[in-house]
Amino acid sequence: MSIQLSYFNAADFYCDGGASFGVVPKKVWQKRYPCDDDNLCRMSMRCFVIKTDSRLIVVDTGVGNKQLDYLKYYNIEGVASIGDEMARMGYSCEEVTDVVLTHLHFDHCGGCTYYDESGELCLRFPYATHWVGKAQWENFENPNVREGNSYFPENMSAVEEAGRLRLVEQNEWLCDEVELRLFEGHTVGFLMPYLPTYQGGAFLVGDVFPTAASLPPAWISAYDILPLSSMREKGLLLHEAAMHGCLFVFQHDAYTLQGKVVCVNGHYRLQDVVTIP
Ligand SMILES: [Zn+2]
Repeated sequence: MSIQLSYFNAADFYCDGGASFGVVPKKVWQKRYPCDDDNLCRMSMRCFVIKTDSRLIVVDTGVGNKQLDYLKYYNIEGVASIGDEMARMGYSCEEVTDVVLTHLHFDHCGGCTYYDESGELCLRFPYATHWVGKAQWENFENPNVREGNSYFPENMSAVEEAGRLRLVEQNEWLCDEVELRLFEGHTVGFLMPYLPTYQGGAFLVGDVFPTAASLPPAWISAYDILPLSSMREKGLLLHEAAMHGCLFVFQHDAYTLQGKVVCVNGHYRLQDVVTIP
C-alpha cells in the first residue's frame, strides 16, 4: 500500500480576524496568527492531491473563477489554474478518480466546474466520483440563513447532472488508504479525510481546525453553525490524534502546513511543525 500526499494553493483570501477566532479576544489571537491594519488575516485555500496504488484523489477544489466579482470582499488573490497545478505535479484532471469535498462553501468546491468558451458549465474533473456528506448536500440544496450566501448552485449542479455525485451517510473508507469521517460543527455533513498510513497517520483537518492557531477546542470560528458540537468534535479528535501521534494537515493556514499533535500537561501542542516556504 503506497500513498503520496501533495498540495497546491488554489488562492489566497482575507478573513476578518474577529470572524476567524470568534469570541477569543484579539489581544490573545494576534500573538498566534497575524493580521493587517484592517484586522484581516491572510488564509490559503490548500487543495490536496492523494496518490495511492489505485486512486488519484483531489481534496477540495478552491474558489474557482466563476464568482470572483461577487466575492471581492474577501480580497481573493493568486487564483491558480487547477489544470496547470495538476500538470506541474505530473497529473491531468482527466486522470482524477475521486474528488472529496469537505463541504460546499464557496472556497472548497468552486473549482469543480467552469464555464467554457461557449458559456457552458463543464466539470473540471470529468471522470471523478465527487464525494459529499449527505447532510451537507441537503444543506446546500436548502440552506439556512447563515450559510445561504456561501453556497452557489453552479459549483455543483453539473456534477449532479453528470451523475458524478456520491453522498456519504456515515464514516466510510474511500479506499484502503483513505477514510472519510463525518463532522457536524463547522457545518453539517462535513467530510474529513484520514490517512492512517501517511507519516504515521494524518488528518486533513479543513475547517474543523482552519489554522494551527485554532488548536484549542474553544478557539472556534464565528462561522461555525454548531459551536458546541465544534468544541466537542475538536476535543475528541485532539485526544485521538495525540494518543496515536497523528499529524494535522491544515488547509487555510497561510503559514503552517502541518504538525504532529502532542498533549503536554493537559494542553495540546504541535511538534515537528512544517511551515510554508
Ligand atoms: Zn473554508
